[in-house]
Amino acid sequence: MKVYFDNAATTSIDQEVVKTMTDIMQKDFGNPSSVHSHGRHIKSVIEQSRRTVAKILNASPTEIFFTSGGTESDNMALICSVEDLGIRNIISSPIEHPAVLHTLDYLENSGRSEVHYLNIDKDGNVNLTQLDELLSQFPKTLVSLMHANNEIGNILDLQKVSEICRKHDALFHSDTVQSIGHHEFNLKELDIDFITGSAHKFHGPKGVGFIYINKKNKINPFIHGGGQERNMRGGTENVYGIAGLAKALEISAENREKNNKHIRTLKSHMIKELQKNIKDLKFNGISHKEETLYTVLNVSFPCINLADFLLLKMDMKGISASGGSACSSGSIVGSHVLSVVSAEKERPSVRFSFSKHNTLEEVDYVVSVLKEICSE
Ligand code: PLP
Repeated sequence: MKVYFDNAATTSIDQEVVKTMTDIMQKDFGNPSSVHSHGRHIKSVIEQSRRTVAKILNASPTEIFFTSGGTESDNMALICSVEDLGIRNIISSPIEHPAVLHTLDYLENSGRSEVHYLNIDKDGNVNLTQLDELLSQFPKTLVSLMHANNEIGNILDLQKVSEICRKHDALFHSDTVQSIGHHEFNLKELDIDFITGSAHKFHGPKGVGFIYINKKNKINPFIHGGGQERNMRGGTENVYGIAGLAKALEISAENREKNNKHIRTLKSHMIKELQKNIKDLKFNGISHKEETLYTVLNVSFPCINLADFLLLKMDMKGISASGGSACSSGSIVGSHVLSVVSAEKERPSVRFSFSKHNTLEEVDYVVSVLKEICSE
């Protein structure tokens, strides 16, 4: 049996999305910047995709810019805030994705901004009282805090953070890569400056994403070149990817409740079965609690002797799951997230992440394999 429980790393592409993309590949080859009919036609595909994304997020189409994915979008939000919006201080957390953490290192090491990291409690929640206090000390601040953590599933209260930021006149960026497609966004109600998305996390193609930039923020081109993406990102657009992203988001939005219910059932079944079958097992952070992202479950296993071989042994039984962060599935490098939350650090940890395609039978199979491995 082959089981894919690594959906926070990437998801399989929906067949309807493949069809949308291949139809365009076969029929439309125009350059969207050309003014003739071939160009105009493909340009309309991009603009229709932008309207679709904007409608689902309740934003204006002029606030959506297509990019190469979550990493580029996060880079753009952080770097453009510093370069174009006068930001000198950034407040973030140590459990952000490397797309944010490494960009912050870059900005700090090049002397362009100072970065302040909030404390994380043992459950993986950021200290919002500290955020409030820090914001009163630092003018011209950008707050960058992810919505749903890709390793332990903690969810940030975006509304609350937005209110704290506005009280102090700070900008607010949230890496929403893991929650787009699973969570309902209303960007006319939520006062936020930047959010980011990546199609391959919601059954779309890889190498395409978007950034929402609140229209209050006027920033300069992030990639210099032609005037594509309303002059923000030069380069001929990834038209197939963009159309695929919009289709995938549309399918996710239409089926959100159904998928949410199904995946929650899988996760709670896995929690129950693991507890029943494997003694002395621990959940990392609060990933087993209802309030976390329903796609992610992070577990530490008692089989200390196996250390890094646990993932390998699972792989040999056809099970794909992940150890470190989403970008380093199978990596034996210690997780920067687990190192700051309550986790059994000496024990092998596995992040299981589910999708709409997973089944209860797969959960039972994975638990039976883990039971066998842990009793060796
Ligand atoms: N942010 C988070 C929270 C992620 O999980 C990922 C992907 O693992 C990214 C950003 C990067 O997205 P992409 O793979 O599209 O560059």
